[in-house]
Amino acid sequence: MKSYIVGNWKLNFNVGEASIYLHKLQKKIPNYRDVEVVVAPTALCLQPLSLQIERSKMKLAAQNAFYRDFGAYTGEISFAELAGLVNYAIVGHSERRYIFHEDDKMIAKKVAAAIRNKIRPILCIGETESERSFGETRDVIRDQLLGGLSEVSEEDISKVLIAYEPVWAISSTKDAKPATPDEIAEVVGLIRANLKEIYGAKIAEEVPVLFGGSVKPTNAGAYLTVPGVNGLLIGGASLILEQFTDIIETAKRVKQ
Ligand code: PEP
Repeated sequence: MKSYIVGNWKLNFNVGEASIYLHKLQKKIPNYRDVEVVVAPTALCLQPLSLQIERSKMKLAAQNAFYRDFGAYTGEISFAELAGLVNYAIVGHSERRYIFHEDDKMIAKKVAAAIRNKIRPILCIGETESERSFGETRDVIRDQLLGGLSEVSEEDISKVLIAYEPVWAISSTKDAKPATPDEIAEVVGLIRANLKEIYGAKIAEEVPVLFGGSVKPTNAGAYLTVPGVNGLLIGGASLILEQFTDIIETAKRVKQ
């Protein structure tokens, strides 16, 4: 399986800045066939960057979209509008869950809308620090995974990527602390066990599972070698060209 290195730029870089960054990134990295590089700029950047991106080197992702294709939904952008512009969409990021109050039902509709519009959803799941401290990690992961995938058929599951992002490890969380490879391995094992229960053993092994949370060039190698981890979702470090390219090169080295 390929490795996936996904940069989530969040609400950073305006159109000009994003374009300059993309230009530099494309100059710096070769075409790695076994490492899929994906960047997720703000919605306003997607159209201009879609004209600039060398799709043989990297792909675009949306950070979010609405689940209806069109209609009276003031302020929203649909997956239908993004079809053809992006290959991926991040769905259910913890910032969407906790700042914008998205629940598993809404996230499931977004996952389905992405697939319907030929966009691969990257479904983010992960427990908070307090859920972990109360021993609820197993239940939270199961609920978010089954909830988010509730509208995905066996035929479509191959289009989905899962990102395990413990909220307590995300760099913008107060007192964030990086996860250990053992902590990640345990939860990735739970994710695959749940996938096996719903979709069977073969599919459970084939769904890419990414890790995200304070990934840096210094820990990327260790995280990419955790059993069952197929890539990284990166926030802060994806905004720093040297760090992001360093992580991409680490993924290439780990693949060899
Ligand atoms: C994220 O928010 O998806 C994330 C992983 O951020 P960071 O890498 O900054 O922890």
